[in-house]
Amino acid sequence: MKQLMTATRMNCLLDCPRKHYWRYEVGLKRETDSAALRFGTAWHAAMEDRWQRRSYESALAKALATAQDFDEATVATLSGLLAGYYRRWQDDPVKELHPEVEFRHPLRGSRSFDCAGKIDGLGILHDGRLALVEHKTTGTDISPGSDYWIRLRANPQVLQYVIAAWSLGWDLHTVLYDVTRKPAIRVKKGESPEEYSERLAKDCEERPDFYFARREVPILQDDVESFHIQRVELAKLILNFRAAARKARRPEQAWPRHLTEMQCRLCDYASFCLQNIVPDPAQPPAGFRVGAQHPELNQAADPTQGETR
Ligand code: SF4
Repeated sequence: MKQLMTATRMNCLLDCPRKHYWRYEVGLKRETDSAALRFGTAWHAAMEDRWQRRSYESALAKALATAQDFDEATVATLSGLLAGYYRRWQDDPVKELHPEVEFRHPLRGSRSFDCAGKIDGLGILHDGRLALVEHKTTGTDISPGSDYWIRLRANPQVLQYVIAAWSLGWDLHTVLYDVTRKPAIRVKKGESPEEYSERLAKDCEERPDFYFARREVPILQDDVESFHIQRVELAKLILNFRAAARKARRPEQAWPRHLTEMQCRLCDYASFCLQNIVPDPAQPPAGFRVGAQHPELNQAADPTQGETR
């Protein structure tokens, strides 16, 4: 059975090969996703509703239905930001949208991997052109001259989706980014969550370009070609590390550690990895479980779902 190369997997390997080992070789995963990931998931759920032209109330309900352990402040952030989004964008750049499109196709140049994932949306613009639609949330500057846009152009996730869209017969040449910046303001002392939500929505109205940006970026053939090469090289890296792991005294030893403050500070596995403690998959550490490799995909795309290893 072929393995799956998702954009998340590629990013994980690029972050730190040892992290990839814990996540995709052992299948170890936190029982509860990080706060940032949970917020992103909720926002994507809201966007799916919003771009189907449903009401604010419907989009908020959809987002909150995904919420795992959201505190009052997070719910207030979500509702205030979403209210700001609805006020900022009254018109839609797409005539028709196909949301949440799953794909799976062979990885060119690899006999071991298929590419898989879920595209935010495939859209038909008002002028008839086809576009990949990408909703993103970020904590960084999204002003027109910021580095954010330069990094997005060669983003592995976006290029993976572009190639997937082509494989599905969508002859698109542009990506429509819909980016929302997460607020830097917080609940003040003595302020209720409702008051904070309203203050945030008002701030969004006063500073729309700080919070929201939409931009069309053309797809460059050169970026796609580079990505094809890099993706297959990442697949080979996984196979090489795995072969070395079979010869090592302990398999994790073959997967290099990217021991930088930036990587390790936010890493789920830091509590044991940095101590050189090797957890037993049969008895995962508290707060972890061993399960599906790609829970973001449905079972047809990822047959490891439902497995408890
Ligand atoms: S703690 Fe650091 S070295 Fe260990 S897996 Fe995480 S990022 Fe890699």
